[in-house]
Amino acid sequence: MAVADKAASHDGQAAPDLLVAGAGVAGLWLALKAARAGLSVTLVERGNPGDGASGGFLGALMPHSPERWNGKKDFQFRALVDLEDEVARLQSETGVVCGYRRVGRILPLATERSRRAAMDRIADAAANWGARFAYTVSHTPDRGDWPNIVRAPHGIVQETLSARISPPGLIDALLSSLAVLPNFDLRLGVEVVDVAPGDRLAKLSDGSNVGFAHLALANGVDAFPMIARLAGLPAQSLGSGVKGQAALLDAGAPPDLPLVYEDGVYVIAHENGRVAVGSTSENEFDDPYGTDERLEDVLKRARKLCPLIKDAPVIRRWAGVRPRAIGRDPMLGLVPGAPGVLAMAGGFKISFGIAHRMADCLVARITGEEGPETPESFSVVTHATKAARDQGNQ
Ligand SMILES: Cc1cc2nc3c(=O)[nH]c(=O)nc-3n(C[C@H](O)[C@H](O)[C@H](O)COP(=O)(O)OP(=O)(O)OC[C@H]3O[C@@H](n4cnc5c(N)ncnc54)[C@H](O)[C@@H]3O)c2cc1C
Repeated sequence: MAVADKAASHDGQAAPDLLVAGAGVAGLWLALKAARAGLSVTLVERGNPGDGASGGFLGALMPHSPERWNGKKDFQFRALVDLEDEVARLQSETGVVCGYRRVGRILPLATERSRRAAMDRIADAAANWGARFAYTVSHTPDRGDWPNIVRAPHGIVQETLSARISPPGLIDALLSSLAVLPNFDLRLGVEVVDVAPGDRLAKLSDGSNVGFAHLALANGVDAFPMIARLAGLPAQSLGSGVKGQAALLDAGAPPDLPLVYEDGVYVIAHENGRVAVGSTSENEFDDPYGTDERLEDVLKRARKLCPLIKDAPVIRRWAGVRPRAIGRDPMLGLVPGAPGVLAMAGGFKISFGIAHRMADCLVARITGEEGPETPESFSVVTHATKAARDQGNQ
């Protein structure tokens, strides 16, 4: 392993090969993959791990639709396939249960048009997903009223690629796996407030400075203004937060029920009889963490969609802010104009399915070893170009 740039030391402290800002699903996977590769890693988190968008409980691992295949879809597909083994390794290393199961997914078809489109996608799925995963269109669900047949007048799509995971389980497992690695250091309750890339120095909120060979900004929605500033762009140009609200129900549901997804509503049975329901998508909001009548509306729709949860009591309501990059694809790779600084942000609605592969890409970039290809559409430059185009059109 050859680390491309060597860390300088600062204040008598050896600088880590990789300093990571943010202990959400992105930062934790990155820290783990880098530490496993032999890099010295310091992870700095403003509050506690999972304080950001990763602190929810939905955990849907759903592929993009299989038609019009592109780099992003291919990246996500490979990530969804690999995650099963990644999680098995984490669980066997730590003994922490991640609540992963490849349960598949059902999409009710409300119109004849959507049925015809779904029929066309059968060939796309066969071509792009291969023989291991099925994509079928049928008339009735084979799990009784999961979902309600009345909601599927034109049948259903069933696919076997989708899975689900327990977000808190995964965060715990990542932390447990990291905790035993001697080349890993976790600093909680302190945030990165400024970065001087020329000096390879990050300034922290406790007044200390940390040197780094590489710094990864994996701090969710807060990464966008930092990356923009380092790249010499307007603060809000590279991405924003989209609020989502979700609820957890005590439903006594069988854990092998497939995910149900209809027009923005997810219904996800987990291992412990609980069912997670989500989510709103709000571009404008005053209170990022409050829940309100918009969640009650999603719940109402979910209860109609899946009568099994009709009377199930809500045991938790939660809201968080998803990081969405300007180009909608994740943002991954070098920050232009900031030597040694890397972006790992913008996973939006699919972070739990792809963060481990995004981490592999960055670790390969740092070590110079072979890794997965990063789609061009993920690069900071691509997002910045889109931002400039949008501003030119205003
Ligand atoms: C309601 C809802 C439902 C969702 N459902 C799903 C789903 O089913 N499947 C899925 O894959 N995704 C889902 N998502 C999206 C997913 O949760 C996010 O994409 C993901 O959590 C983003 O992870 P992250 O690590 O990039 O950011 P975050 O989880 O937000 O982590 C960023 C961390 O950085 C810390 N931080 C911020 N600034 C600094 C700083 N300067 N220095 C140090 N630390 C800092 C924060 O405290 C935080 O802990 C959902 C999101 C919501 C809101």
